[in-house]
Amino acid sequence: MAKDSMAVSSLLWTLFLISIIFSLQSKSQEEDIPITRFQQYLRINTAHPNPNYTAPVSFLINQAQSIGLTSKTFEFVSGKPVLLLTWLGSNPNLPSILFNSHLDSVPAESEKWIHPPFSAHRTTDGHIYARGAQDDKCIGVQYLEAIRNLKSRGFSPLRTVHISYVPEEEIGGFDGMMRFAASSEFRDLNLGFAMDEGQANPGDEFRVFYADRTPWEFIIKAEGIPGHGAKLYDNSAMENLMKSVELIAKFRETQFDFVKAGKAANSEVISVNPVYLKAGTPSTTVRFVMNMQPSEAEAGYDVRLPPMADPDVMKKRIAEEWAPSIRNMTYTVKEKGKLRDHLGRPIMTPTNDTNPWWSIFKQAVEATGGKLAKPEILASTTDSRYIRSLGIPVLGFSPMTNTPILLHDHNEFLKDIVFMKGIEVYESVITALSSFKGVSDQVL
Ligand SMILES: [Zn+2]
Repeated sequence: MAKDSMAVSSLLWTLFLISIIFSLQSKSQEEDIPITRFQQYLRINTAHPNPNYTAPVSFLINQAQSIGLTSKTFEFVSGKPVLLLTWLGSNPNLPSILFNSHLDSVPAESEKWIHPPFSAHRTTDGHIYARGAQDDKCIGVQYLEAIRNLKSRGFSPLRTVHISYVPEEEIGGFDGMMRFAASSEFRDLNLGFAMDEGQANPGDEFRVFYADRTPWEFIIKAEGIPGHGAKLYDNSAMENLMKSVELIAKFRETQFDFVKAGKAANSEVISVNPVYLKAGTPSTTVRFVMNMQPSEAEAGYDVRLPPMADPDVMKKRIAEEWAPSIRNMTYTVKEKGKLRDHLGRPIMTPTNDTNPWWSIFKQAVEATGGKLAKPEILASTTDSRYIRSLGIPVLGFSPMTNTPILLHDHNEFLKDIVFMKGIEVYESVITALSSFKGVSDQVL
């Protein structure tokens, strides 16, 4: 009996040791694949309002070292690093190529997620849940994984390839890409072409973006003589403001009609959306004094202009129709970006044969069996606007097909197979772009 039990216990012990060895082996295998490197990056919490920039930068520098890329860190604003990785081309005199992504992400309300937003949990059917999975840590890792694979196959680029990781994109990029793009370090990169983030597509085509819309913060204010609530008189502040609100609503409707009729995409029209109304004479007892017409009234609008919009026409419309001084109105417009580049051209990247980078990119995507959707203007903004405004062509592209658009949403996820396919796409894109001999170095 005692002998039997000893045999059983030694068998159990052996099984236990075997299971440990297997689990160690599977753990080490787990740590050595692109998916787990993606998960590791996702687990670093870089969400606003207090993004951790130190941890992702050191993670990425380690990755860069492991595949033989050089790295530089710039701090245009203290505590907000820009990381630049470089793969030197065999002809570094040719204009280089940049692949950009941002380090930061928007916050996540953990309690509303089915898996914690910084756990990067991978379900049995391959969904990887994490804040930043789509926006845009996927591309940040895919760039590196693509280069890792290309290097292991012995590929060497003709043009120098740079990868940048910038802070603060989610809050406008003012302390991130805006500073970097304006720096001598950026000018020294001698860029010919750049790629930045795009968006997912629930369908099976890859989306690609050639421009961003430019946001304006627009406020109109009316002033007038205050009066008794019972009095009918001209030029009250409320009356003047309401006239403008109606005119602006009409304009909004006309633009929206183009979208509804299928003549334009949402991002191709000027959107003027009311975001606040402020008027009334506050009271301490009730919320507002009801028998009084106030002396001031104000409305705020979120305006988005596509690159082909004429800013001067828009300003004239505002001054003459929406906030005319003859109706005692004043206004402010805060332009949160440019509509024209340094040569006065609309800030957009051509997506036709006049732009050889476009043709190369398109062919490279198609070579992997992928299909590109009709190029789009992004409804919102990304850091690519700062690069485009220097006259450098930029395409926004995140290779995510058959994926719901979940950026900034709860339960943001990316499927492992979609992530892996993206690496293959970038291998093709990086190979093609970095091998481009160029038509003229001056132009390209
Ligand atoms: Zn983003």
